[in-house]
Amino acid sequence: MISVIIPVYNNQNTLFELTEQLIETLKNYGVEIIYINDGSKDQSAEILNQLSDQNPMVKVIHLAKNFGQHPAISAGLEHATGEILILMDADLEDIPSNIPKLIQSIERGNDICFTIKIEAKKFTLNKLLSKSYHILIDSLLKEKNPTNLGTFRAFNKKVLNALLMYPERNILYGPLMHHLGFKREFILVERNTKYKYSSYTLNKRIQLAINSLISYSDLPHRIFLWMGSLIFLLSTMYGLISFIQYIYWGKQLMSGLTLVIMILLIILSTLMIGLGIIGSYVFRVFQEVLNRPRYLIQEKRNL
Ligand code: UDP
Ligand code: MG
Repeated sequence: MISVIIPVYNNQNTLFELTEQLIETLKNYGVEIIYINDGSKDQSAEILNQLSDQNPMVKVIHLAKNFGQHPAISAGLEHATGEILILMDADLEDIPSNIPKLIQSIERGNDICFTIKIEAKKFTLNKLLSKSYHILIDSLLKEKNPTNLGTFRAFNKKVLNALLMYPERNILYGPLMHHLGFKREFILVERNTKYKYSSYTLNKRIQLAINSLISYSDLPHRIFLWMGSLIFLLSTMYGLISFIQYIYWGKQLMSGLTLVIMILLIILSTLMIGLGIIGSYVFRVFQEVLNRPRYLIQEKRNL
């Protein structure tokens, strides 16, 4: 049995075609398609209900509101029953006819099969952001992974069980699956550029990057430590030099209000940055301690 897990957020234009292509491609396998409607505001919910009425293979989880892509994926993973799991986007950028390639990779004995997107080299702000995000994550995790990794991937039950063991509220499956280990393969797949629509706003993207920076590294507060140490060292040296000069030659180095203000500002800003960083960790610890559910389910269909 193959479980295809697809989070849906305002994808009314692609759902019919996506389902049709999935069923066509996977007709030789036992398959369940789990759509998680992440509080879509368009006609997606109605379309999904219609699809699940027509076809028992189509299973739908309606979440109570928009919880975000990753909590939606959690909901899908927790309900999947297949031996092989496929994760993909609902916007048809991932081409369903590539799925057999992924399945074959798992059947050859790999635990995870990632896909690398082949895309036209067109420069956009989003691409630049996404690229820097991946480079950052790779360097933080000290693992050499290809950039341009897609959400589109396949994995087996072993990996699913591992994923389900991670209890954090702020879960991010991208970096998490990087650092799981297991036997993995990366394959190149085409992407469909006809559907160039992204439900991620710039703001959401930046939030995601900050979130993974904070959850997956100790870099932010280490930077602060370095900065603090450097400023401490420089100011002690400055003080020492001024003192020696004063003692021996009776003169002072740079002085005046400008200098005082400058030093005050540097110290103040460093402290504020530090407080902000500590704040974001405390906030996250607070969220984890609350132990709130990642998502709430409004309704299930065919499940
Ligand atoms: N998505 C979601 N909740 C959200 C935002 C996105 O479930 O709040 C889903 C969306 O329906 C899609 C996938 O996450 O299936 C990836 O979203 P999108 O295609 O907009 O992202 P991009 O392709 O730009 O990475
Ligand atoms: Mg997309």
